[in-house]
Amino acid sequence: MSVFPAVDELKSTDALSAFLDAAQARFGERLAVASSLGAEDVVLVHAVAERVRAGGSPVRIFTLDTGRLPQETYELHEALEARYGLRIESVFPDTVAVQQLVRTQGPNGFYHSLDARHACCAVRKLEPLQRALGGVDAWITGLRRAQSITRTEVALAEQDGTRVKLNPLAHWSDEDVWGHIRANKIPYSSLHDAGYPSVGCAPCTRAVDPGAHARSGRWWWEDPEHKECGLHVARLRRLEDARRADEEIA
Ligand code: SF4
Repeated sequence: MSVFPAVDELKSTDALSAFLDAAQARFGERLAVASSLGAEDVVLVHAVAERVRAGGSPVRIFTLDTGRLPQETYELHEALEARYGLRIESVFPDTVAVQQLVRTQGPNGFYHSLDARHACCAVRKLEPLQRALGGVDAWITGLRRAQSITRTEVALAEQDGTRVKLNPLAHWSDEDVWGHIRANKIPYSSLHDAGYPSVGCAPCTRAVDPGAHARSGRWWWEDPEHKECGLHVARLRRLEDARRADEEIA
């Protein structure tokens, strides 16, 4: 992955554009940005848009509309499209699968057990993601090492099954992200100003106290090591393998 700019050089729109240049040269149209419209993701949208404004080719951007998103996320979606004159493609869950899920576990069944929560994320996020990634060889995410204990090993580029996952913000700090958003006046979710450092589905996200960990408001009723929806499951498997190896050595 040495075709990509060095990590220290990635903390600007120009450097992110160079990263996108390298990714597009390598993967062509089989490249996409997966955006949850979180703070990191608006940084990526800005980079894609600025690159197009400078004459570069657009990169497809999609977002998963789980059907349980807060209104503020839809407002941000519209604000980004209006500001940058681009389309962010919404990908929806399969309606029959959602109907079956709700019939089985009820409308808020995800609160009742980890299995039920994973089942909801599988229907509303994982299957749509796999569908969205059909025909994609590399996907770009806003994952950062500083986001949670499940993300401390995020690499700039990593193999994700048959695809490559590119995480150009892997080494960005919270200050890097928010400094970049403010310096460039990038639209962001109003929920971030209401105590939500991380925004997901409405029933599974809440505000946190100042200084609390960024992901502590996501699935707050679960242990920290379970706080993923499965979209980045390869890393979770590696963490689980490492934990098992530690136990065997001990
Ligand atoms: S975050 Fe919550 S509502 Fe959204 S898909 Fe997962 S369990 Fe379902």
